[in-house]
Amino acid sequence: MTIEPSAEAAARRPDVAVVGAGIVGLCSAIHLQRAGCNVTMYETLGPGGGASFGNAGLVSVDNSIPFSLPGMAWQIPGWLAQRDSPLAIHAPHVLKAWPWLLAWLQAGRRQNVIAASQALRALHSYALKGYRDLLGDEVFESVIRRNGQLYIWSSAVMTSRADRLVADLRRAQNVAIEPMTGQAIRAMIPDLARHVIGGVRFPSNANTVNPSRLTGSLAERFRAIGGHILPRCVSRIQPNEKGFGFGPIGAITTPPR
Ligand SMILES: Cc1cc2nc3c(=O)[nH]c(=O)nc-3n(C[C@H](O)[C@H](O)[C@H](O)COP(=O)(O)OP(=O)(O)OC[C@H]3O[C@@H](n4cnc5c(N)ncnc54)[C@H](O)[C@@H]3O)c2cc1C
Repeated sequence: MTIEPSAEAAARRPDVAVVGAGIVGLCSAIHLQRAGCNVTMYETLGPGGGASFGNAGLVSVDNSIPFSLPGMAWQIPGWLAQRDSPLAIHAPHVLKAWPWLLAWLQAGRRQNVIAASQALRALHSYALKGYRDLLGDEVFESVIRRNGQLYIWSSAVMTSRADRLVADLRRAQNVAIEPMTGQAIRAMIPDLARHVIGGVRFPSNANTVNPSRLTGSLAERFRAIGGHILPRCVSRIQPNEKGFGFGPIGAITTPPR
């Protein structure tokens, strides 16, 4: 049963605009609407039409290791020379990318990695409970699978400074992991390439069966509790006498997905 607020109570509710109905905007909008705000979302592509549409759908509750780690600075020249390395910078962008690269290296200092890892742990470990709360049990079970995730590698045992730090952090944070040999992995996935020699399974991690259905379900929830999603492109946010307002709000010329 939905209880409509009185006209007076509704008038007291603050108006809130959320720009962008991706996974972040939708989750924020539902929480704001539940907290008693009148929330309107503005979205150019349709709910979940941006990065939240085409991602891998992993819900990594037990991943708390940032990408930049100690010692990576020494690997950059080699990476830039290889075609299949994890880092590629298009030549004309090298100078432009420099400040970002410096910040990335700074983030890889031991104390920064520890702080980032603790923050990631606090954020990620709640993800499944958070989705269940937002979606309700039935929808949650239909869009999220808790089958774990497997990370595989083809190089020898890892013993670098960074590997030791990662292992220490996971241990300190009680992250559930199952180290696996190449043989054990192949027993699970017989067609896996022969060069895979080991891996680690995160049994508590999950995935969504369809990222678009996840955001679509959140959009439905949001509308069901009185939220609105308008197909508009916000071009500017500017202060006014009431707080903030938008500059010209463009109508969408291409139909939302
Ligand atoms: C290839 C790939 C794989 C990934 N895999 C994973 C994964 O497995 N697990 C994971 O957790 N993350 C993954 N990610 C990251 C994840 O997709 C993003 O972090 C997440 O979708 C970001 O959500 P968002 O709501 O911030 O952005 P978006 O989903 O991009 O939402 C922003 C929305 O704002 C709208 N918008 C922007 N500007 C305006 C404007 N001016 N007016 C109106 N609307 C506007 C856009 O249309 C868009 O819909 C992956 C990303 C990529 C690219």
